[in-house]
Amino acid sequence: MIGYNKFMRKNRRKLLELFGLSFLSVILLPYNFLYSVAKKIINPNLTKEQKKIMFKESTEKPFSSPLNAENRNGFFHCANCGAKLFSSNAKFDSGTGWPSFTESLPGAFKTKIDYSFGMKRVEYHCAKCGVHHGHVFVDGSTTTQKRFCSNGLCLIFKPES
Ligand SMILES: [Zn+2]
Repeated sequence: MIGYNKFMRKNRRKLLELFGLSFLSVILLPYNFLYSVAKKIINPNLTKEQKKIMFKESTEKPFSSPLNAENRNGFFHCANCGAKLFSSNAKFDSGTGWPSFTESLPGAFKTKIDYSFGMKRVEYHCAKCGVHHGHVFVDGSTTTQKRFCSNGLCLIFKPES
């Protein structure tokens, strides 16, 4: 039979590793947990392509969105939860092929740093339902120094009546 002290000596490193690991996951868990819980399908009619962008942070092909040419007055809403995200006043033609905005409506989005593709970019997601919408870039040519590069598939335009 192995005594307690001998057991501890033998397994101390293992126990410390185990403790360290679980300690880390306890710290990281709430964030990941909240983030994944926050993202859920609210609109049952989302297409496969929309889900790929919203839930797997994919990007639509440039110049593919009909919203690039949308110039009427109104608001752009989240295609998943319907939250009001952008005013048409903030929309501009960036030439990038994606619907672009100088600013969002206050509190519309939350951001996180995205390191995919070897780049450091700021990803923004709907504050209400958590789905991915696009990336915000520093852009000296806009009045806000910002360019919200949006996936048109994540947006629904509602013209002002
Ligand atoms: Zn939303």
